[in-house]
Amino acid sequence: MSNNETLFARAQRSTPGGVNSPVRAFKSVGGTPRFITRASGARFWDADDKPYIDYIGSWGPAIVGHAHPEVVKAVQAAAERGLSFGAPTEGEILMAEAICHIVPSIEQVRLVSSGTEAAMSALRLARGATGRDKVIKFEGCYHGHADSMLVKAGSGLLTFGNPTSAGVPEDFAKHTLVLDYNDPAQLVETFKKLGNEIAAVIVEPIAGNMNLLPATQEFLQTMRDLCTQYGALLMFDEVMSGFRVALGGAQSLYGIQPDMTVLGKVIGGGLPVAAFGGRADLMKHLAPLGPVYQAGTLSGNPVAVAAGMTTLKIIQTPGFFESLGKQTKKLIDGLTALASNHGIAFCGNSVGGMFGIYFNEKIPTNYSEIMSSNKELFNRFFHTMLEEGVYLAPSAFEAGFVSAAHDDSVIEQTLAAADKAFAKLV
Ligand SMILES: *Cc1c(COP(=O)(O)O)cnc(C)c1O
Repeated sequence: MSNNETLFARAQRSTPGGVNSPVRAFKSVGGTPRFITRASGARFWDADDKPYIDYIGSWGPAIVGHAHPEVVKAVQAAAERGLSFGAPTEGEILMAEAICHIVPSIEQVRLVSSGTEAAMSALRLARGATGRDKVIKFEGCYHGHADSMLVKAGSGLLTFGNPTSAGVPEDFAKHTLVLDYNDPAQLVETFKKLGNEIAAVIVEPIAGNMNLLPATQEFLQTMRDLCTQYGALLMFDEVMSGFRVALGGAQSLYGIQPDMTVLGKVIGGGLPVAAFGGRADLMKHLAPLGPVYQAGTLSGNPVAVAAGMTTLKIIQTPGFFESLGKQTKKLIDGLTALASNHGIAFCGNSVGGMFGIYFNEKIPTNYSEIMSSNKELFNRFFHTMLEEGVYLAPSAFEAGFVSAAHDDSVIEQTLAAADKAFAKLV
């Protein structure tokens, strides 16, 4: 047995399924998850000391490359000053100022420890500020695992959601309405009927939790206009796209200002930091100023903030996103050309440092097209790539991530592996 297999067998005795977050278990692709022992730059190593080029980057946070010396130094220095105080620090002000500066729609921000917590708190704030209960989300978007977000569309248009997880009461799910991504007409119809009851529309403006699927300009603009017209709040969940598709996130690319934004992943640089923020007149409803309660023992943790601030500093260096976007595009163009050489129905797409690969004839534009991609081909491709030392997201329905450490030689090595993997598919 390999060390990975031994560890996985052992892990399953003390932890449900052997993992602390489900996608890590390789259930979708089959096989044994790799247990990671260390990482540096664009690579990590498993328990058998096999190196992999890493295209998940901790699902986004590792944007400057793993164990970046400046980030490690900042974390060590912060740790030496103490791990957590339960009292405010200047670092939290610096972080809040940096976020408000980089994302102009955010006038005030609160730091929390996970994207789930940030989205959950932002939705509570939206309900508290508007005095309305109903929320619209879109099929295929992920906003963490708060009860009201673990919901899928009910049968038929304009019916309220059904829970997608055991343990979520129907009484909670019924306040969430689940609509189709990139369908502005359905949104118009829904607002006509229920607009005055909607507290918020929450959306991934560039979706990354059903593979990569950017919204159309029309979809987001329709959403913006309807929210303004009916007094609902537009909430962009940029936990994944923030500081990833561009420095200012998806909202900077579309030129659309949400009322509130949810952030996570990159802002912690690999440690637990997330945030939600937006218009100051909304944020003032939060405790201790207002009646919407929210708190956290480790919120704004000094060590985590040090990792996040140093990461934000590095990604603000001139040319950072130009170079990241160029490398990501090089990867996607290379993969697309190779697949075409081998006669495989495959396409790719990228925005900034985030990418999608699809075993489809053309780039999917909505949830059902994504779901029609060839999962079996993806799984075979995934396993050959893994064998060849390239770690892709272990599911056909997840986005991929490139870091600043993915230089030309890393991309070339990836493409050489892909050439072999595509050849095996025909
Ligand atoms: C990852 C993610 C979340 C949840 O963040 P966690 O830190 O895993 O709780 C929420 N929304 C989006 C868009 C995400 O990608």
